[in-house]
Amino acid sequence: MPPYAFFQNKFVPLAEAKIGIMTHALHYGTAVFEGIRGNWNSEQGQMYIFRLKEHYQRLEDGCRLLKIDLPHSVDELCQITVELARKCAFREDSYIRPLAYKSSEALGVRLHDLDNDFLVFAIPWGRYLDMDACKCCISTWRRPADSVIPPQAKITGLYANNAFTKTEAMENGFDEGIMLTPDGYVSEGSGENIFLVINGKLVTPATYNSILVGISRDTVIQLARNELGIDTIERPVVRSELYTADECFLTGTAAHITPVAEIDRRQIGSGSAGEITARLQELYFAVIKGNHAKYLDWCTPVYKK
Ligand code: PMP
Repeated sequence: MPPYAFFQNKFVPLAEAKIGIMTHALHYGTAVFEGIRGNWNSEQGQMYIFRLKEHYQRLEDGCRLLKIDLPHSVDELCQITVELARKCAFREDSYIRPLAYKSSEALGVRLHDLDNDFLVFAIPWGRYLDMDACKCCISTWRRPADSVIPPQAKITGLYANNAFTKTEAMENGFDEGIMLTPDGYVSEGSGENIFLVINGKLVTPATYNSILVGISRDTVIQLARNELGIDTIERPVVRSELYTADECFLTGTAAHITPVAEIDRRQIGSGSAGEITARLQELYFAVIKGNHAKYLDWCTPVYKK
């Protein structure tokens, strides 16, 4: 079964979905994307798409910033995505990539007077940070202020900043880079939010610290509070707190919950997943695979039973 795309308002094999070389979004980064997980539950023979609606609500917010009139409502986008996933028929963890973009084949930097389009495709995709615990560095690249380019939207042009960070980190022997805000507070990884455990509580940079407000971040905050009785403090975090935290982990749709073993060659805690991180990981994997009855509302089944 070839993977499919929903492109120019119809389902086509992924290999047939092509855009012209003059497409505006390709030149100026004028597009908004999402990353959504389809989590395969082998015991149930079911694929669950995690927090589908929330991803499209965030896409819709990004489109408002970029003056993209989406041709579909959030509910329609959810339906299109489930149908796409069903057509792809994957029986393994997958990743769904929607993109709303300036589709005119026209030059000239602007947001106005351009056509918009929406596409979505899915691919099989396993673990993103493929290790038990990752090694991070503080990036020399900073997250932009909202007045430079709003970091709370997944604007494709913005992701050159993330790409600088990721490649710098990997070429220097790390797995991931942590960016600071323009004024030097901790912000986030190139594709993940960051959490610390300090004195039994979770601490994470606040929404105004140039972060993408992650859906996994929200999931962790809710699971920690509801299931472990642990509160999360959202506040500015200084760099040195990273080095002395009891535990540290990254969260993201692609990366799930990935423990951080060391930052700038300083070991965090025991150097492997700490106790609270491990408990959250266990809960999180049960929830995203549709194995936790209380959170089934977050899981959209793909296959009809
Ligand atoms: N920050 C950045 C920069 C990201 O690209 C992502 C991935 N979407 C995240 C954080 C985590 O967000 P989410 O949990 O919604 O995937």
